[in-house]
Amino acid sequence: MTANISHFFDKALLAKYNTSGPRYTSYPTALEFNDSFDETQLIQAIEQSTTNELSLYVHIPFCHSLCYYCGCNKIVTRHQDKADVYLDYLIKEIEHRAPLFTQYHIRQLHLGGGTPSFLTDAQLTRLISTLKERFAFIEHAELSIEIDPREIEVSKIDELKALGFNRISIGVQDIDSKVQEAINRVQSTEFIGQLIARAKALAFDSVNVDLIYGLPHQTEETFAKTLAQVKAFDVDRISLFSYAHLPSRFAAQRKLRDEWLPNADAKLSLMRQAIETLTGYGYEFIGMDHFAKPSDELAMAQKLGRLHRNFQGYTTKGECDLLGLGVSSISAIGNSFSQNIKDLTPYYQAIDEQDHALEKGIALSKDDLIRGDVIRELMCNLFLDKQSIESKHNIVFDEYFAQELVSLQTFIDDGLVDNAETTIMVSPRARLLIRNICMSFDAYMKRHLNQQRFSRVI
Ligand code: SF4
Repeated sequence: MTANISHFFDKALLAKYNTSGPRYTSYPTALEFNDSFDETQLIQAIEQSTTNELSLYVHIPFCHSLCYYCGCNKIVTRHQDKADVYLDYLIKEIEHRAPLFTQYHIRQLHLGGGTPSFLTDAQLTRLISTLKERFAFIEHAELSIEIDPREIEVSKIDELKALGFNRISIGVQDIDSKVQEAINRVQSTEFIGQLIARAKALAFDSVNVDLIYGLPHQTEETFAKTLAQVKAFDVDRISLFSYAHLPSRFAAQRKLRDEWLPNADAKLSLMRQAIETLTGYGYEFIGMDHFAKPSDELAMAQKLGRLHRNFQGYTTKGECDLLGLGVSSISAIGNSFSQNIKDLTPYYQAIDEQDHALEKGIALSKDDLIRGDVIRELMCNLFLDKQSIESKHNIVFDEYFAQELVSLQTFIDDGLVDNAETTIMVSPRARLLIRNICMSFDAYMKRHLNQQRFSRVI
């Protein structure tokens, strides 16, 4: 979406609405998962699902060293053999799960972490061949992996290609050395360039880089260099994340002193700079935090109103169920969400005892499904066709959501939302406030307000 960027940055509006809110990678959010959801319900959800297309997500929790900004579920270790033990258990889980999905075709596989590139070539080969043996991958399935550019050789890209990977995502974050030292993530920009060049030479379908704004010592001057470098890399997609400083929740973040961090105003300026610069370079602004070349399928999907959102962010694979494998991974199967145990030792114990590690989840009610559709449409397309919700769910939209439309009034009064007879349209000015607008349709929200369970929207 190329729009007048200055519209997004009405300071008074951003200040008025900059509360904390969910990123809505699912509705209901993971906070609503409960431990009464069990294996029987998961099997029921698989049987009742109306799709036979599947995305796989595999979580690799290990990292070689600790980045101080990190809020991910990971284990920092130099012991490569820990990954061998992990694979033993992961493969047991795969072997238990795969027979439940024999009617499914695998369209997509994503390895996330942690650091999936922590795995040696032999370990990766073992994992991928097990998955390919146990599941039916379609030809040209999308295989993607997150890469930490610090502990690998360029030849890793060749190895990934040989295993069938066609998409890579590299954690760049910021190229400034002072920023990198503060966050304990010193890495070579030149080497990242070599990795990207190799991926292009081997005709990978897509190269993504992650950036973070709001990091210690970041200024517009330093960040301009990072953004210019991204242009020089000529990547297909960019994910731009806001650093959420929550030292009481994430111990590593206590190493980042408050006085090193840009204040709220400076952080907003960094975000504005990133959006202006990247769209100025010709990237389309997708959803809340992604940028893609206009020819990229994410940008095309957004234009066609077919963008989808799941636990990995924006996607074009909205028709697929999602099976998460490995510690802490999340699944979205039929009308259910579920999550594996988050810590490694109890994960191993659960696999030993029952061959799976399902810990909690939720069977979606009719109301969850209706609200989930509304929130997803607004998050992805900034637009809602009330009639499509009415015919899909057999409701009268304005009656069903009478209460919610009242709470939407503040956005309508501020000219941010247009509530017409058959549509709800979000103004480009409200682009950065879409989470707040969606919160009006969230039936669980009242319980969580004032609890700081979510990051701020900006
Ligand atoms: S940011 Fe990535 S590489 Fe760094 S500690 Fe967290 S998961 Fe590991």
